[in-house]
Amino acid sequence: MAESYCGRFAPSPTGPLHFGSLVAAVGSWLDARRAGGRWLVRIEDIDVLRCVPGADGDILRTLEAYALDWDEEVVWQTRRHDLYRAALESLSSKVFPCSCARKPRYDGACRNGTNLPPRTIRLRVPDALIRFEDRRLGAFEENLEATCGDFILKRADGLYAYQLAVVVDDADQRITDVVRGADLLDSTARQIWLQRQLGVPTPRYLHLPVALGSGGEKLSKQTGAPPIPPHGDVATLRKALAFLGVQNIEGATCREILARALAK
Ligand code: GLU
Repeated sequence: MAESYCGRFAPSPTGPLHFGSLVAAVGSWLDARRAGGRWLVRIEDIDVLRCVPGADGDILRTLEAYALDWDEEVVWQTRRHDLYRAALESLSSKVFPCSCARKPRYDGACRNGTNLPPRTIRLRVPDALIRFEDRRLGAFEENLEATCGDFILKRADGLYAYQLAVVVDDADQRITDVVRGADLLDSTARQIWLQRQLGVPTPRYLHLPVALGSGGEKLSKQTGAPPIPPHGDVATLRKALAFLGVQNIEGATCREILARALAK
């Protein structure tokens, strides 16, 4: 694993980092560094409607303050539209224009054509099980036809969908290991199917436990999760490590704590 490992942290700049996103950052950083691998940061600002101006810079400064050093230059999805366009074009008849409104499970109404103005572009999915092995949670299988149906790669507002951008980027950046929160588990089968259609490799997946708020809610900007201290707070970092099962790491600085966590 050592030579070939490349991991990433891929925050959406919808606000400052909260505890849940720090856990994902620390978890993927530790996994990469323990493997002697590289670790990249990618700003997932593809959904510009949800982005908050300046949040990208805040996130990068906070990562630096917590000594979560990355390799290579940070990439921004909004600067990579050409890649997404080329990938979508290469899918040719595997995708189709659709004039239906968004729904939880798509019924395939426009699969064989539509006379109405197209709104979105969808990827055909098979009525078959997609199987994958999560490094922490074990075996999963999903029939995409049953769970979501043909899914959207280009949205009605003209934006490329998260699923397309993330798959194209993971392939382009040669990511071998995706380590992220378990809230993204239900995207994984779709991403694997899309990888197969694009003819790109499937990375290994490890979905981390999701940190919950005191009321049991997922921490997110929508649920009002407070930002972590931006200056690199050792107590917050130790809490994130403890949440990941790395207990009792002492140290005066974030850098020292991470170095000791690596050695453990
Ligand atoms: N940008 C996504 C988020 O912030 C993460 C995507 C991923 O790790 O695959 O929730």
